[in-house]
Amino acid sequence: MRDAVDALPDRGRAAAIGAALLAWYDREARAMPWRVGPGERLAGARPDPYRVWLSEVMLQQTTVAAVRTPFLRFLERWPDVAALAAAEDAEVMAAWAGLGYYSRARNLLACARAVTARHGGRFPAEEAALRMLPGIGPYTAAAVAAIAFDRPAAVVDGNVERVVARLFAVETPLPGAKPRLAALAAALTPERRPGDHAQAMMDLGATVCTPRRPGCPACPLAGLCAGRARGLAEELPRRRPRPERPERRGIAYLVRRADGAWLLERRPPRGLLGGMLGWPGTDWTAAGDPPAPAPPLAADWRPVAAEVVHVFTHFRLRLSLAVAEVGGDAVPTRGSFVAPAAFSPAALPTVMRKAFELARPAFPPRAAAMPQRGPVSPGA
Ligand code: SF4
Repeated sequence: MRDAVDALPDRGRAAAIGAALLAWYDREARAMPWRVGPGERLAGARPDPYRVWLSEVMLQQTTVAAVRTPFLRFLERWPDVAALAAAEDAEVMAAWAGLGYYSRARNLLACARAVTARHGGRFPAEEAALRMLPGIGPYTAAAVAAIAFDRPAAVVDGNVERVVARLFAVETPLPGAKPRLAALAAALTPERRPGDHAQAMMDLGATVCTPRRPGCPACPLAGLCAGRARGLAEELPRRRPRPERPERRGIAYLVRRADGAWLLERRPPRGLLGGMLGWPGTDWTAAGDPPAPAPPLAADWRPVAAEVVHVFTHFRLRLSLAVAEVGGDAVPTRGSFVAPAAFSPAALPTVMRKAFELARPAFPPRAAAMPQRGPVSPGA
């Protein structure tokens, strides 16, 4: 099927879209802790590349609402790239808990160290140099170059793809349409205020041109939008159906010692949840290949009736749980006991926290054994 617009937009149309978008952004820009708004920019303020980069890494696959608190927590603890580069790996991994995709936290540290070692603690301004840094792909490089340094880089994420597909009525399904949408987004990127343009596109996609029920009547681009004119806005962008995620199974062992300590194990540095603390468990095996039990110590293990179901990017995990209570002399073959005062479920990755919440009723309450809510991370 041919798209409604096969050529790039003419200059006049691109300029009209850009002008309408920036005028709207000047009125409606969302306030964010990492953002220098249009009014502040006009007064001469410039964004801090460290904050822009940190927010962009945190925002991948996550919402603005979910990022605000961890962003401020990071900033308070590590106010600049040199401070983050000097942080302990385990501290950063614990502070990242809840944001998911832990490989990003490892790359965050590697990138902070590379900026410090290779660039004297200053982020480079060019997309090409940014892409040489660990964990910075095309999207993050473009976002940092545009927002922090006002370079005319086309910043294209899922929100922008959606807006552009609708604006130009691109009916080719994703992911095949990606190059076309990127070319259209690049053609719209202005020489003047490219950073504000990028943020305006993001805001429009997040607040007006939303995935379901786009707010076309309130949209500053309504009169310029081919998708709206053709009555296709809600249907776009089209997507090729996704294949089903395969399923994996595993067993996690939750054991509490008589003094209230919990047995935790740090996962290997590479691979899924690499370097994070979790409950000792079996390998996660493919469906049809049940996991072989691998308890971390001899105990009277009891199964928990409910299972944890957790969806990772490439598979769905069904995690069975076994619980036990042991005496003070129990010696595990793996992991270490973490005292209740040092145990914080909030510092565990989401799947491990889900396991704790499901298994919790199987452990009778005991004042000394219940974990303290708070940011303290276990040091096992
Ligand atoms: Fe999106 Fe509607 Fe605006 Fe077009 S008019 S960009 S479909 S909100």
